[in-house]
Amino acid sequence: MRAVVCTDLNEVSVQDIDIPEPRAREVRIRIVAAGLCHTDLSVVRGNFDVPKPVVLGHEGCGYVDKVGPGVWEVAPGDPVVCSIIMPCHACPQCDRGAFSICDQWFEIAFSGIMPDGTTRLRRDDSDINSFFSQSSFAEYAVVPVSAVVKVRQDAPLEKLAGLACGISTGLGAAMVRAPVQPGATVAVLGAGGVGVATMIGARAKKALRVIAIDLVPTKLDHALRTGAATDAIVAGANTVEDVLRLTPGGKGVDIFYDAVGAATTIETGIAATRAGGTIVAIGIMENDLEYTVPLRGLINEKIITGTNGGSIVPRRDIPRFVDLMMAGELPFDAITDRYYDISQVAEAFDDLEQHRMTRGAFRFESSPS
Ligand SMILES: [Zn+2]
Ligand SMILES: [Zn+2]
Repeated sequence: MRAVVCTDLNEVSVQDIDIPEPRAREVRIRIVAAGLCHTDLSVVRGNFDVPKPVVLGHEGCGYVDKVGPGVWEVAPGDPVVCSIIMPCHACPQCDRGAFSICDQWFEIAFSGIMPDGTTRLRRDDSDINSFFSQSSFAEYAVVPVSAVVKVRQDAPLEKLAGLACGISTGLGAAMVRAPVQPGATVAVLGAGGVGVATMIGARAKKALRVIAIDLVPTKLDHALRTGAATDAIVAGANTVEDVLRLTPGGKGVDIFYDAVGAATTIETGIAATRAGGTIVAIGIMENDLEYTVPLRGLINEKIITGTNGGSIVPRRDIPRFVDLMMAGELPFDAITDRYYDISQVAEAFDDLEQHRMTRGAFRFESSPS
C-alpha cells in the first residue's frame, strides 16, 4: 500500500509498504480521508520528537476492513473515525472518565509504537514506526479499537476526518472543556482549522459575540464570511486593547481560547479576559513552551486551563458532533477546504505552512486489495 513516510528531519516521501495486519482488539481501516494537522508538520520540522522512519497521519476516517480477535464494537463495512483519544480503560485517569488525559496516551502517542510495544508497519522486513497508534496517511491503518468510533452511514465521511483530532479539539474546547454560556462574549486566537472549529462550537452554544484573532487577514475574512466569527482582529501590538473594546464595559471576554500556543499568546489571553473568566490553551507550537502568569489575575479568580483533544469522550461526542452537523447546527464540514492525493504531500505541507488552507486532508480515491 502507499503511505507517507517521514524518514528524517524534513524528509517525507510516499513509499510502498506492507498492508498491516490487525492483532487482538485492533481494527484495520481502509482510509477514505486523513486530515492534515500541524502536529504532523511539527514532526517533519523537528518540533516534536518521534522515532523515524514513521508513517504520519492521525486524522483518519474510512471503512472497517478487517477486525482482529476480540473486537465486537465494529464490523467490516462500518464507517468510522479514528480518534486521537485512545482510552486504555486501565489507568487512574480513565477510571475517572478523563479519557483525553489517559496516562497511557502520553506514553504511546509520540513513541512510535502501539500500546503492546510493537508496530504493525513494515517494509522489506524492516519495522516502520507508528504515529498516535494510527498512521493514517496510508491506504490502510491498523488502530486499537478503543480509538475507533462508528459514525452514521449517511454522513459524508471525507468531511469527518478532522473529528479525529483538530476539529474535535476546537469543538470540544467550546462545548466540553470550557462550555460557552448563552450570550457570552468569547475570543479565539488562531483562525485555522482548530480555531474556526472552536468558533463554530461557540456559536452553536449561543455565544453572542465570537472575536477571531489572527495574523493573517484572509483567515479572518474566511471566519467572518462563514459566520464562524462575529468580529475579527488582526493580531498585533494592540490586540488586548482591540479585544477589550469589543467586550461589555471593556472588562474582557468571558472565555479566551488560545488555538495557537506560541510565546505570549496565553499572556494576551489573560490580559483580555475579565475577572473570573477562563483562559483555555488548545494548541502548542513547541513542547517546552513556558508562560509568565500575573498573580493578580489569579487573585481576580481567572481560571487558566487547557485541553488535550478538546477533552471529548470520543464515542459520546463524535457521533453527536456528526448529528449536529447533519442537522445544520454545527457546520464544521466547511472547515476542510483543500483535498490532496498523498503524492502531493510536499505541496500539502507547504500549503499548510503558508496558510493556503483552513484545513486540508488527503483523500484516497480507491485502494488496491
Ligand atoms: Zn492533530
Ligand atoms: Zn488510560
